[in-house]
Amino acid sequence: MITSADTSRHYVWSGHRGPLAQFAWLLALCALMGGLADAPSARAERQGIKAATAHVQILTVFDNYRVTAGLKSRWGFAAVVVTPNTTVLFDTGGSGSVLLTNMRRMKLDPQAVEAIFISHVHGDHLGGLGGFLAENSDVIVYIPASFPDSVRHMIRAAGAYFRDVIGPTEVVPGVLSTGPLGDGLEEQALVVDTNEGLVVMTGCAHPGIVRIVEAAHAQRPDRPIALVMGGFHLLSAGRSKVMRIIQAFRRLDVKRVAPSHCTGDAARRQFQKAYGDDYIAGGLGHIIELP
Ligand SMILES: [Zn+2]
Ligand SMILES: [Zn+2]
Repeated sequence: MITSADTSRHYVWSGHRGPLAQFAWLLALCALMGGLADAPSARAERQGIKAATAHVQILTVFDNYRVTAGLKSRWGFAAVVVTPNTTVLFDTGGSGSVLLTNMRRMKLDPQAVEAIFISHVHGDHLGGLGGFLAENSDVIVYIPASFPDSVRHMIRAAGAYFRDVIGPTEVVPGVLSTGPLGDGLEEQALVVDTNEGLVVMTGCAHPGIVRIVEAAHAQRPDRPIALVMGGFHLLSAGRSKVMRIIQAFRRLDVKRVAPSHCTGDAARRQFQKAYGDDYIAGGLGHIIELP
């Protein structure tokens, strides 16, 4: 049960119910009455399109922006993706103990995590991995193939497994990696294929946030982009650069945004102004629930 006091940090996805949406319902009703109804999953399967994942929850467990009192806020980012089939940890923040404390306070069991996805090598995303593996090593850690061997040794020494990611790949059903992007410092983004479309999760977006969203779109061009969330790396970006990014997001038809971590206050305000009701004020303790 969500009370009104919770609404700022608990975002329950609802579709737009404009005239077009009503028209779509009418069409669906006509199809149903005419015996033409078809389960979306069955139809998608025939067309060779993989079915989306239903009932996805995304909980931000590490962020320098905090939206819920009682959690430990530090520089860095981590989020937990919960689907009916699995639980994936995206990045680990800068400290294992802070990460685990926040997870427990948000009623998340570290033992439920089956896969860990590390976006890039920086300490504010990778630093909590060792501490987390000391708690739960029964996981597979997906890392960009360019990572130093010291990280692989650390994962193996903890008793966990790793997978080097070299290109676009499906980590677990419905949860994809864009593959490492960028020249020099490589970074991968996590893409969750939900009923509402793709949710693109970025750590620091060093390769450029637009390039990351384009890569996600190229991976599943038939799916809309429901949400882009995480660090957008715009701390030192000027207004015109942020405006160009917002225009690119419009071209890519990005429905909603939840920028946090290294996005910066000024860029966040610009996104909020441009996206209005479709701007989600994300941060530590925030929960997004997709149907
Ligand atoms: Zn970084
Ligand atoms: Zn970062």
